[in-house]
This record gives sequence, structure tokens and C-alpha cells, in this order.
Amino acid sequence: MTTSFSLRLYLLIFCTIAFKNLSVSQTFYGTNSFTEYRQGTLPILLTAPHGGTMVPLSVPNRTCNGSVTAPDMYTEELACEIDSSLFDLTGCHAHLVLCHLARIKVDVNRPVSIASCGNTLATIVFNEFHKFIDTAQFKMKQQHNYGFYADIHGHSHSIQRLELGYGLDTTQLALSPSSLNTPANVNSSSIRNLVNTNFNSYTLSDLLSGPFALGTLLASSGYSAVPSAQDPYPLGGQPYFTGGYNIQVHSSMVASNIIDAVQIETQYNGVRDNPISRKKFADTLAKKLLYFLNLHYNQPTPNCIVTTLKENENETHPLFFFDNTNKTLNIRFQTEGEHTIFIYGTSGDFWKKFTFKERNEELKLHDLSPGIYFIKGSGSLSGKFIIQ
Ligand SMILES: [Zn+2]
Repeated sequence: MTTSFSLRLYLLIFCTIAFKNLSVSQTFYGTNSFTEYRQGTLPILLTAPHGGTMVPLSVPNRTCNGSVTAPDMYTEELACEIDSSLFDLTGCHAHLVLCHLARIKVDVNRPVSIASCGNTLATIVFNEFHKFIDTAQFKMKQQHNYGFYADIHGHSHSIQRLELGYGLDTTQLALSPSSLNTPANVNSSSIRNLVNTNFNSYTLSDLLSGPFALGTLLASSGYSAVPSAQDPYPLGGQPYFTGGYNIQVHSSMVASNIIDAVQIETQYNGVRDNPISRKKFADTLAKKLLYFLNLHYNQPTPNCIVTTLKENENETHPLFFFDNTNKTLNIRFQTEGEHTIFIYGTSGDFWKKFTFKERNEELKLHDLSPGIYFIKGSGSLSGKFIIQ
């Protein structure tokens, strides 16, 4: 067995294990299985451009000017794990695009001349990777009319924090809100569409480092991030990745694209260094990402349960009522059959799935601390309740 074949076999086995319920999604491979696209149904796209480990002799090592060849170790595994966590929470997969070829052979997060250094096969791999992203984004727009793209990387900077790149540099991030929130800065960010259309009319600076920014939500769960309310911008001289080629060409920074994007640069220790770290971070990111989407986009959070519970397709207006005295949630479904609901809190920390078999159900929620909670389920079940 050749090294490259064993590696490919390993990757196929690995991702098959991580990618649960394979039958509901399709997987596509590029030439020689150097790239892979797992088509999902969530309005979320994950890519791992620098996590590949295949080093076939058929593709020469990159040595042209501008070549960076260091891999982002375990980011492919991390992307698979994030998708797995999303599936556990929603019953749906994200779109997942992977480049299995090592960065020394192709860098799919660079313009093609540097990506392939002129090699024909590497150029084909580059084109296939970006075609997969285009297809995933087309699907998200078609199914949901919105989408969020997270490009997963790994940095080796000494400051142990997540670096979230929205296409804005350190100087821009350090501006006061009134100076940052200009059309020119909004248009140069990878969340231009979200700034212009978000449900709460939050500004660019709100969405970067306000209380409900992705970085703030992650930092409040123990994963320091910049930008965030806790750490709004890198201080002078501190290393920071602003966001590379992928988010520049595949985000709403491009005026004709409505897909918003962020480049997530992860530190090694405690995030991707071993399976336990990866699972813990993936669970947190998945919760925060879903909460972020639900909070800011005008579109409903996708409800995959509808597609798996056919008997509920005609269900209309199930009713629910929260009894604050007894801390119970009373739900009345209008159809027979199995019903699934999700309950989650405003911080995204509590996220639980419940499945019922009866039409009238009473759910005891004594364990929940006071706060606002959202409920979502099959059919049109959607709303919020407050525990006092
Ligand atoms: Zn990278």
C-alpha cells in the first residue's frame, strides 16, 4: 500500500465516521480525490484549505515566489468535527469543502499563480476546490436565501486566541464606531450583506465586537477571540490575519454575493491539538454559530426535522404556553406522530433537543436559570418564552 493511498484511505474512513447519517447527503470528489465536497442542507459552509496531508509525487512541491507551505495541522479534522456538532444540534449537515492535498503541493487560499506555481494538476485541484465552494454557496442561496461561510485555519502566533478575519485590517478595527461604520469599511468587509440586512439593524462595529458578535459569544465561552467585546482589535504590533483569498472572493465583500464569511484562525493548544480539544471547541463553535445566525438573519433557522418527519408535513400552528409558576412548558401539537423541538437560551449556552410522541405534552424546565429562551420545532412551532 503506497503512502498516499493509505492516507486517502485514512481520510475516507475518518470523514465517514465524522460525517454521520451519510445517506441524507451527497459527496463529490475532485481529480484523484484531492478535493472533496460534502453537500449539506444548513445555510453554513465550512472549508479547510490548509489541512490536507497528501503529498503525491505527481504534483511537485511549490517553490515559486510567495509560496507559504506550512500546513494548518488538524484543521481538516476540526472542520469535520464542527459539522458533526452542527448535525448533533440540528439534524442537518453543513456544506463541507476539503482540500486533501498538502499545502506544499497546492495552496487553495491564494491566487492561482501562487496556489499552483504553474503546475497543471495543482491548477486543476485549485479550480475544483473553488468550484465546490461556488456550488455550495449556490445551494445555500437556493435553499435559504442566505448563508454563512467559515474558512477554518490554524495559526502559530504566540497570543493564544482565535483570530476572526472579516477582511478588515488592524487599523480599521481600531477605529471608533462612527469612523468604522462608514459605507467604505462596510463594503470592504466579508459581512457586508449582514450589516445591510440584519434583523436588529446592528452596525458593522456591533457585529464585530458588540455583545452579540461571534467573537464575543466565543470569548464568553472561554475561547478568547479578536475582534470581540473582550478584545476589540489587535494592539499595535500584534500578529493578526485579516482574512485571505477565500473570503475575499467568496463573500459579500463581492457586491454580487449575499453569502457572508469569516476566516477563523485557530490556535493549536486547546482547540485542535487532540480529539478532545477539537470536540469541545467544535461543540462551542456550532452552538455559537447557530445562535449568531438565528439572532441576526431575517430568515428562519432551518428546521431539518421537517424533512425527516413526513407525518408532520401538514402540521399547522402548534400551540405552546410557558407556565412560570410551575416552570413547565405546555405544548399542543395539531397532528399525531413524533414531534421534535429545540430549546435554547440567548447566550447559546443551553441548547437541548426534546422528542415527544403525544399531541399534548408538558415539559418541566426547573433546571433552567432565569432568562429568555427560544423554542423551535417541526411545522410552524417557533417562538420564545421568559423564565422569571
Ligand atoms: Zn491557513
